[in-house]
Order: sequence, then structure tokens, then C-alpha cells
Amino acid sequence: MTTNTAAAISPEEFLADFHHTTLYGKTEANGIDRQAATAEHGQVRDWFQARAEELGFDVSTDPIGNIFATKTWTPGKPYVLVGSHLDSQPLGGRFDGTYGVIAGLHAAAALNSQVKEGVVEPQFNIAVVDWFNEEGSRFTPSLMGSSVFAGLQDLETTLDSTDPEGITVREALKSTGRLGEPIDFEIAGNVEVHIEQGRRLERAGVPIGVVERSWFTQKLLVTVIGEQSHTGATLLADRRDALIAASKAVIAVEETVYEMDPETVVTSVGTFNVEPNSPIVVPRQVDMVVDIRADQDDDVAKARAIILEKFAAIAQERNVEIRADDYDVRPVSRFPEESVELAHKAARDEGHESMTLSTLAGHDAVAMNRVTPAVLIFVPSENGISHSEREFTRDEDLVEGVKVIAGIITRLVQGELKDVSPGGAQ
Ligand SMILES: [Zn+2]
Repeated sequence: MTTNTAAAISPEEFLADFHHTTLYGKTEANGIDRQAATAEHGQVRDWFQARAEELGFDVSTDPIGNIFATKTWTPGKPYVLVGSHLDSQPLGGRFDGTYGVIAGLHAAAALNSQVKEGVVEPQFNIAVVDWFNEEGSRFTPSLMGSSVFAGLQDLETTLDSTDPEGITVREALKSTGRLGEPIDFEIAGNVEVHIEQGRRLERAGVPIGVVERSWFTQKLLVTVIGEQSHTGATLLADRRDALIAASKAVIAVEETVYEMDPETVVTSVGTFNVEPNSPIVVPRQVDMVVDIRADQDDDVAKARAIILEKFAAIAQERNVEIRADDYDVRPVSRFPEESVELAHKAARDEGHESMTLSTLAGHDAVAMNRVTPAVLIFVPSENGISHSEREFTRDEDLVEGVKVIAGIITRLVQGELKDVSPGGAQ
């Protein structure tokens, strides 16, 4: 059982293209290292442009470095977007993001063949998109390209933001030839396929997940301020050691989850900078970022309150100051019911069982969902591992995901979600 568009996909060509991308920024342990607007990221994007042009797409880049490969069947009509991101975390996995871009390219090429043959009569055009800087590791925040495109973030401010070396987004984009021109087209939906980055599909033995909502996420920018002194000359009682206090704070962040429910709340500290970071100096300051995510808004608020209370106690006990500022707050966002239903139908069209999921991680489709009806589907991730070189999804699962999004974009270009409002906050 399969749709015409899905049948027009060549799994071999898709897999050859997908596996080819892993050469750009390849790491020794079979992962990739392609942070936003680095040379390696620039190279894979140039390859993507060349491959899309070979398949007959027109390619353009917008002012925040998003790349669009378009097929314009009817000039002036809006575009259905399908894609994900080609950037990665440092020592990241080869499936996260890249899969969705190459899947989108092959699904759109198959759809084009059906339009050319007169099997599909589209009301809209199609664009495969590679969103700039989804990962947010080199330049923050994450979901940068999609958020600016959706108007959720200011272009100029974003272009002026810098990486840890002081290089601006503008300079980095320019160095990879991706500081583009404004793109003037309307959009009629956004589709993304991504690896799950969790193990719910694997546990359930189901090949396709349909995302109905994203988890509430927020970060805390935390600064622990003690006092710098000589490690040899300062007795412990006289120290105000920022690193000891910060270490306790990191443990407190994790403990908070176990005081709540580890199935519905997660927290992390992923960055940690010590000043002055000298072996003979009691640390003066530690800067770190706390990340809190939960299935329900209330749980993030509750976790945040517990963490701040613990921080206050640590600050008092260790005679330091702990400042915590809210940052990058993203409430629970729901995909339109019609989008979820349509994705389940598309999975059934390919003979697959599918299950409804929420996403803990942010995705470009979550940002786009604020301005257009968006569809986000997942394929299984082995052991749920992601943002790691050990990330893995089987070829068979990758191919089925391409077929399902081929069906989804076929339905979208024929206007199936055209009267649906965008999704958004609960
Ligand atoms: Zn991703």
C-alpha cells in the first residue's frame, strides 16, 4: 500500500544522498561536527544547493541564511515548506536535522514528478528548506533561522549576535556565502520529519510518531559570584569559592527532577565557565546555563521555583551570590488537530501504524507552527540517543519517513490544510 508520490521515490538515491552528507564534518567516531556557519556547514550547504539544482530546483538564500530550494508550478501562489537543518551540535549525530532536509528534497522531487505527469494538481508550490542554526550551539538562541523567518525574532539583532570568539552571525554567514536577500513569497504550511531523539517509538515498536505538542522549555542564565583569592594562602573558612557553590547548584538542578517526576520533567546544566580558571586561584565566578523542560507549563514553573529556592540556600551557606535570569522561555505549543490527523492518515496510506507524541526538544516546525499550519513527524532513534556521535536510525526507518512526508506534502499542496489556522501556545 503506497501513494503515487511515495512510489516515485527512489530509496537508493535518497539513501546515497543522505549518507553522502555525513562526509562533511565527519568525526572519527562516525558522527558529524557542523556547527552553524563553520566551513564544514558551508560545504554541506553548497553540496545541498548543487544537488537540488541538479534535481531541477531553484535555490535561494534569505537574509538569515535559510536556504530554499523551490519548484514553482504556479507563479505567485504560496509555497508549502518541507525541511529541517543541516547544522549539528559539536560532536553531534549525523541524523539530527540532516535527515529531514534530504528527506524533504527527495519527497519534493517525487511530488514534482507526479505534478509533471498530471497525477497531482497542486494549488500551491513547494520549497525544500534548510533552516539556519537550528542547534544554537555556536550562536544562541536555537531555532534561529526559522524564528527570524517566522517573525518571532528580530533580523538585525540576530545578525549582530556573536559566538564565543566575538564573530557575528552576519560575518559568519558572509564567510560561507549565505548572507542572502529577502525572499518574497507566502507560505501555505510547513512539514518536517526528524528522528525522535527519544525511545517511545522504539519501545512501542511503531515506525511513525506524529507530534501534537512541544514541551514547555526555559533556560536560566546563572552567575555564581564569590571572591578570588590565593589557594595556598586562604584558609577554607575564609574562602568564598564560586566553584564549590556552583557545583552544589548543578547537583541541586538534577535533584529537583527526582523530587518531582523524571518522566515528565527534565533539567540539565550544559555550559559551565569558571573564572579565572587557574590552578592556584580560588574561583571568583562561574557562569552556567540551566535548561528546564516539562510536559506541562505548571511543572516548569514548579521546577524553577524549587531550583531558585535551593540556589538561595546554597548562596547563604557558601557566602556567595547566585543570580538567575529567565531566558529563552518557550511555552507549550500545540500543532493544529487537522495537521495531526492528516499525518496519521499519511502514515496509514503507507501501511504504517503511527502514534501521537509530544516533543521534548525544540524543532523548526515548532517555530513555524506559530505562523502556518505545521506538521511534525518522527522516525525511531535507536536507544533514543541524540546530540551524540552514537545517534542511529536504520535505513528502512529513514525511507519510510520519506514516504510518509511525501504523502503529507502531496496533501498539503492540494490544499488540505488551507483553511486551518496556525497552531501555537496552549
Ligand atoms: Zn534537529
